[in-house]
Amino acid sequence: MTGQTAPAAPQAGVSVDVPAKINPHLGVGDPRADGYHALSTVYQAISLHDTVTAQPRDEPGIAITISGEGAGELPTDEGNLAHKAAKLVALYAGIEPAVKLHLNKRIPVAGGLAGGSADAAGALIACARLWDVEIGDAELHRLAAGLGSDVPFCLKGGTAIGTGRGEELTPVRAKGSWHWVVATTDTQISTPECYKEVDRLREDGIGRYSADIAPIVAAFEGGADADSLARLLVNDMEAAAVSLRPQLASLMHGGLEEGALAAHVSGSGPTVLFLATDVKHAVALARRIRMRGGARSVHLAHGPVSGPAA
Ligand code: ATP
Repeated sequence: MTGQTAPAAPQAGVSVDVPAKINPHLGVGDPRADGYHALSTVYQAISLHDTVTAQPRDEPGIAITISGEGAGELPTDEGNLAHKAAKLVALYAGIEPAVKLHLNKRIPVAGGLAGGSADAAGALIACARLWDVEIGDAELHRLAAGLGSDVPFCLKGGTAIGTGRGEELTPVRAKGSWHWVVATTDTQISTPECYKEVDRLREDGIGRYSADIAPIVAAFEGGADADSLARLLVNDMEAAAVSLRPQLASLMHGGLEEGALAAHVSGSGPTVLFLATDVKHAVALARRIRMRGGARSVHLAHGPVSGPAA
């Protein structure tokens, strides 16, 4: 046979989808001696995910490429959490890392949805699979917690209580599915910036520690309808996020005027989550919020969804 080339061998690789997290309850306590704030939170994974792909690389090193949401503004070196995660797996296995990591981002950057943590969780799993490294659950959790407080939850997905600095997890058996409209904004808030503002507001007597997660846990376990859930959403960082980015108040107010059951800042913000009655309501609500302007992008999401290591 002439003039024909052999079909390219499929590139061996591992792809992992990792969902964003929201915190339907985010209770923030005082800073601990180690500088972290004590948290009493309920996490939920939602159907908005990044995809982390790991492929073998001919030369040593960790090469990162990024596409999608915010790709141009993220580091591709050691500053990227996925890079740190790959390095940790190699260190654990006692091997020299040689990997190409591609991050396809759909989770907004610095939006309070744990996009970086999701990529770190994805890189831990993808590299371990690519290099055939057996990591037990406890060890994987330890590596994840070393990378960031939200990384252990990003490995697990579903719904879970987070205590300590958020890394101590207790799974919650949520019965049902809840629908959200996720509105991102043109600004970003770094998590440390938001904690600083929480502390500053507390010095002025503004803010509280909502430590009691029992009501919302019971609602998830009992399959509460969206109306009931709307009354139980808590975020102790919300006042700080709105204080830092006052335009969030009008975005939240606008969504409520358009019929959202609740407006809830996601984590440290500035993403705003609007709770809808069901998927049909979510579609209509998303359209109305988009038409109103004020949001950079508007997505539909539901939760809980499973995590990559489920
Ligand atoms: P969290 O809610 O966990 O605090 P967030 O959703 O507010 O996080 P991220 O999207 O995780 O914020 O990004 C926070 C910062 O982390 C970014 O500004 C970026 O510089 C850095 N970062 C490092 N690696 C990544 C990554 N793979 N994806 C996104 N951000 C990353």
